[in-house]
Amino acid sequence: MTITRRGRLTITITVAAIVVVAVAWLVGTNTSTSQQGAAPPPTPTASTIRASPSPLPTEPTPTPTQPPEPTPIPTEGSGTLSSVPGTDEADGSGDTLRYQVEVEDGLPVEPAEFASAVHETLTDDRGWQSVEDVAFERTTTDTEFSVILASPDTTDEMCEPLDTGGELSCRVGEHVVLNAKRWAEGVSHFDGRLGMYRQYLVNHEVGHALGHDHVDCPAPGEPAPVMMQQTKSIGDCEPNAWPTVSAY
Ligand SMILES: [Zn+2]
Repeated sequence: MTITRRGRLTITITVAAIVVVAVAWLVGTNTSTSQQGAAPPPTPTASTIRASPSPLPTEPTPTPTQPPEPTPIPTEGSGTLSSVPGTDEADGSGDTLRYQVEVEDGLPVEPAEFASAVHETLTDDRGWQSVEDVAFERTTTDTEFSVILASPDTTDEMCEPLDTGGELSCRVGEHVVLNAKRWAEGVSHFDGRLGMYRQYLVNHEVGHALGHDHVDCPAPGEPAPVMMQQTKSIGDCEPNAWPTVSAY
């Protein structure tokens, strides 16, 4: 039985082989390339099958749409502030205003860099010194106000009774409290101009310390006054960080 089956099988295979050879020969006489074309079909078929179950590459596509990641700021900070050591001399002819810079311990911000950015903004020719006839001096003793960088939770605590909601900054008494989340992220309507937003933030809150209140956008297309609440919205105004351009 087995031998017979094998015998039949051999015959069948032999016949099939002859047919295949004949077909191959016939095809070969037509064109020499068709054989190459005839052989590869299994390969593309296999690769097609492999390609279809791999729509996995579509998953990582969100990556390019993500904006640059800002330094993540913890909502809750350590609750302790440290005065940034060192001094920055007053360089204006106006009345000297002595201030200190304090940073909440543990924030992912270099305190010296923050202090430097604050002082550069305050002493910039476009800043309050030209408008108010004052000269800012950064020091650590006998200060008239403090510029503080704090986590959202600490900002909320220090700003009471004002409601900063974990998002805003404030000035209460001699404390100018800048929310580190805003410092790190800015706001979308400044269109990625983080440096400009930070200058606005310093000038706005120190503007309160100088006695100025909020104002609205004066007219569409105008630069937003520094004392406008530009963190919330700029309305039809253009973002602006400098009191010499538009203050109040
Ligand atoms: Zn304000």
